[in-house]
Amino acid sequence: MGPIDLHTHTSFSDGEFPPGELVCMAAEAGLGALAITDHDTMDGLDEALEAGNETGLEVVPGCELSASFQGRTMHVLGLWVRHREADALRAALAGILGGREARNQYMVEKLRSLGMDIDYQELLESAQGTVGRPHMARIMVERGAVKSYEAAFRKYLGRQGLAYAPKPSLPLELAVSSLHEAQATVALAHPYLLGLNGRPLEELVRACKDMGVDALEAYYTDHSQTRTREYIELARRLDMGVCGGSDFHGRAKPGVKLGAGRGTLRVPYEVLEELKARREAKGLWT
Ligand code: AMP
Ligand code: ZN
Ligand code: FE
Ligand code: FE
Repeated sequence: MGPIDLHTHTSFSDGEFPPGELVCMAAEAGLGALAITDHDTMDGLDEALEAGNETGLEVVPGCELSASFQGRTMHVLGLWVRHREADALRAALAGILGGREARNQYMVEKLRSLGMDIDYQELLESAQGTVGRPHMARIMVERGAVKSYEAAFRKYLGRQGLAYAPKPSLPLELAVSSLHEAQATVALAHPYLLGLNGRPLEELVRACKDMGVDALEAYYTDHSQTRTREYIELARRLDMGVCGGSDFHGRAKPGVKLGAGRGTLRVPYEVLEELKARREAKGLWT
């Protein structure tokens, strides 16, 4: 079986390709399985699952949420989410989308006050799905206001940027409970973004596990092989699962390839089998 990719975005959030197209691309690339993990929405999952049936590619329905915990923001992935029966999760997502609108409006105002030629309506029209910073960055690049997508984040949109505002997030406890209610496996995404190593990292991941987080995204586009190994060892020590993916967005994340990250990512098929075994041991569907 080919390598897998358990972290991807479609045009229902800030990715370039519609779910059906993404699934076909993954099938053609010979991937062994693909998870769709759009930010704050599950609206693309039916289309993706249908394309999975047509192409024979195993599609794992998922989503990615921002969660706050101990004064930090982190991303969690829900994998194998029963999206059609996820009432509590849907309610939580609706709240997040409302908060995102307010944040987008604020950031656009801030960019305008910094002299940028951008307006809110145009931002909405430039996006197909969940609107966010990647869409702002794209407009800024098109206008020539910044040289590159990365520069837009460095100067304006990133955490230290002049127009930054935090994204609304759910308390981790609520994110985990609503994902669990929908039968998902909950994974801590791209742990390198926590900016921690050694003991402090271990303490935080352990605390997340105590809150119900099931797995660690050890394999990720921006993790070196050494880091990946460290995260796998950490997950083993804490008896957590391991997952991994590219965070593929298409042109919203230039240079990141589906299933391959920046060229060296490879998430072995065994990762999928092990996650499924952990779910089966708990009586969850796969
Ligand atoms: P948002 O959901 O609006 O906060 O946007 C988050 C998305 O912005 C992420 O999924 C990335 O694709 C992108 N992003 C965030 N930080 C950076 C960065 N420093 N450089 C490039 N892209 C970024
Ligand atoms: Zn994204
Ligand atoms: Fe993320
Ligand atoms: Fe992501």
